[in-house]
Amino acid sequence: MDAPVLKQREKLAGHIIQHLGKRKMDGSFAPTAAEAKAQVLRLIGAMKTPTSVIRCGSETVGGLGLWADIAALSGVTLMDPYAPGLSKEQGAEVRRQGLLADVLVASSNAITMDGRLVNLDGTGNRVAGMLFGPKKVILVVGMNKVAQDVAAAQDRVRAYAAPANNMRLGEAYGLKNPCLEDGRCHQCMSETKICNIWTIIEGQAVRGRIHVVLVAEDLGY
Ligand code: SF4
Repeated sequence: MDAPVLKQREKLAGHIIQHLGKRKMDGSFAPTAAEAKAQVLRLIGAMKTPTSVIRCGSETVGGLGLWADIAALSGVTLMDPYAPGLSKEQGAEVRRQGLLADVLVASSNAITMDGRLVNLDGTGNRVAGMLFGPKKVILVVGMNKVAQDVAAAQDRVRAYAAPANNMRLGEAYGLKNPCLEDGRCHQCMSETKICNIWTIIEGQAVRGRIHVVLVAEDLGY
């Protein structure tokens, strides 16, 4: 990454982290994906063991290759709904049990300049865990997901993240949504729609429960 771009992103991240603090959330900056990964592993390693971590379907976290490293941490159990050999029903049960995991590691579809977390979910297990259940929520968010405000964040998710997720999941899940045809969101009512639940996290009751790692590099959608 160009040095001026890195510098600008670090300054923007500093601004967002200040606002996260006002919202009783923690934040940190990682100049690279590798540093972000190291930070996540340190945060989990600092928790009291034994620790359970629920895996979610985040493209950002998967792209970092974090799940195998988390599973290898001493005293940590990775609850993996994607484990080979699990039936659809068994995977759903792991997701349900995961609402009581110690740690949720995920990304956010968008974050605003004043530290609000904006997400759009299909089944809701990812956002449910962000809201309540896991004692610690660690979100890895590339600076490509920063939006000026909530309206811009929702625009970003509709214009980019949601259609891209349809492209990622379309074949495996047999999706038949209009965005698969032209790459644009039609705010459809399709039977296989994956855009069902919007959440906006404004703050936390328990200080520091959510920690956002802001990564200078573009990550995920
Ligand atoms: S067209 Fe439907 S499934 Fe596709 S992104 Fe929009 S709401 Fe989601």
